[in-house]
Amino acid sequence: MVQIRLTNTRTKRKEDLAPIDPENVRLYLCGPTVYDRAHLGNARPVLVFDVLVRLLRHAYGADHVTYVRNFTDVDDKINAEAQRRRAAGSDLSLEALIDERTAETIGWYHADMDALGAARPDHEPHATQYIAEMIAMNADLIAKGHAYEAEGHVLFDVRSFPEYGKLSGRSVDDMIAGARVEVAPFKRDPMDFVLWKPSSDDLPGWDSPWGRGRPGWHIECSAMSAALLGTHFDIHGGGIDLQFPHHENEIAQSCCAHPGEGFANIWLHNEMLQVEGKKMSKSLGNFFTVRDLLDKGIPGEVIRFVMLSTHYRKPMDWTEAKAADAEAVLRRWHGLVAGIEPATSPAPSVIAALADDLNSAGAIAALHELAAKGDGPGLLASARMLGLLLPELAGWAQADDAASVQIEALLAARLEARKARDFARADAIRDGFAAAGVEVKDTPTGPEWSLATGFDAARLADLAKAHGA
Ligand code: AMP
Ligand code: ZN
Repeated sequence: MVQIRLTNTRTKRKEDLAPIDPENVRLYLCGPTVYDRAHLGNARPVLVFDVLVRLLRHAYGADHVTYVRNFTDVDDKINAEAQRRRAAGSDLSLEALIDERTAETIGWYHADMDALGAARPDHEPHATQYIAEMIAMNADLIAKGHAYEAEGHVLFDVRSFPEYGKLSGRSVDDMIAGARVEVAPFKRDPMDFVLWKPSSDDLPGWDSPWGRGRPGWHIECSAMSAALLGTHFDIHGGGIDLQFPHHENEIAQSCCAHPGEGFANIWLHNEMLQVEGKKMSKSLGNFFTVRDLLDKGIPGEVIRFVMLSTHYRKPMDWTEAKAADAEAVLRRWHGLVAGIEPATSPAPSVIAALADDLNSAGAIAALHELAAKGDGPGLLASARMLGLLLPELAGWAQADDAASVQIEALLAARLEARKARDFARADAIRDGFAAAGVEVKDTPTGPEWSLATGFDAARLADLAKAHGA
């Protein structure tokens, strides 16, 4: 079996993955807060984990992986949107408006991530379904001396956990010096963070030993991962922006509530999708959504290809040039695998690249080599490890099936003409390709073609007819 190695941000080393139970490899990805459409940056962890899950299912068996990704549906931004709708005249209750908002956002999220070919996780818990578990965990943390109640809040006592700060590599004192922390008079230490907070009557709330209130964000993931994956599991991930404070706080909560269990063995963090050197984010306003790109006619498979062309631990930009290149490559590959069955297993070169810290860029380079060799079955089986050339995403390139048959026939006719020294005909085919927007490159391994932006299917069909192709 292939040995998978991953960079563990907790130890800052590339490590062998050694599953706790190879019969059930377990991983958790922090999911979206469902108040609005996902921006392109939000898709990055989803795609990275999608490739990781495909690789794990290949290595350990399709039924031996459990993948959990949550929906955070308790959040002040969701509440604000519901309150805005009520102020705008809706007569639904606040709860109903919140349900409406989260349900529609989850629907968008599913549609957008499906369009990128990201398989749904095995479990997609909603925070609101695990309030009882969060309350129990908070009570346990209080009982164990790691949390305290103050003015309707429950706070985690960071000084009670000497390891606090280890993941992000900073001490509590450094954090206080460097961070803009909310200084509330009821906190024992400025870095203490909220496990539970009180809700006023116009906000959603649940009854608890500390009065009516709602959970803090970090406790959600600790409670849901424990409920669905147990207190010790293999991989926990998210964007690097979650390392501090979110993941630091998750570790503090889970390790203090379940001492000696270990929580997650490997922490996997993706770098940021950037816009002009800055993290794409809602709050900076420098974002576009996955849906914006899909609506512009950029196929989900093309978006996926671009996102996987950069290693997950490197920052990356989205550019139109990258999308155009990806589209040309994918069109060529779709042409190469049309009507072909995949090989029984993916190419070792592709698996080796992915097993080496999910080197998706290296895996794509290996796919190019398979394509250059004309190995359609190998290309098809291997591309699917990256969620590319999947039948469900191929729709946009399908219109090309007729075109690719015509192009291949015309290339054969051109070869015949050259062999017969009928250069006038060979040149006519070449000029016809150019006029129809088909780019042909002659390479040592044979001609490679792609469709240019102004591709004209009708002209190509005429050309094929004119040459009996
Ligand atoms: P949020 O809804 O902001 O918690 O983000 C959901 C997921 O998207 C988290 O895993 C974040 O780390 C990730 N994320 C947010 N912005 C970016 C970005 N610009 N690039 C990559 N990942 C991001
Ligand atoms: Zn989380």
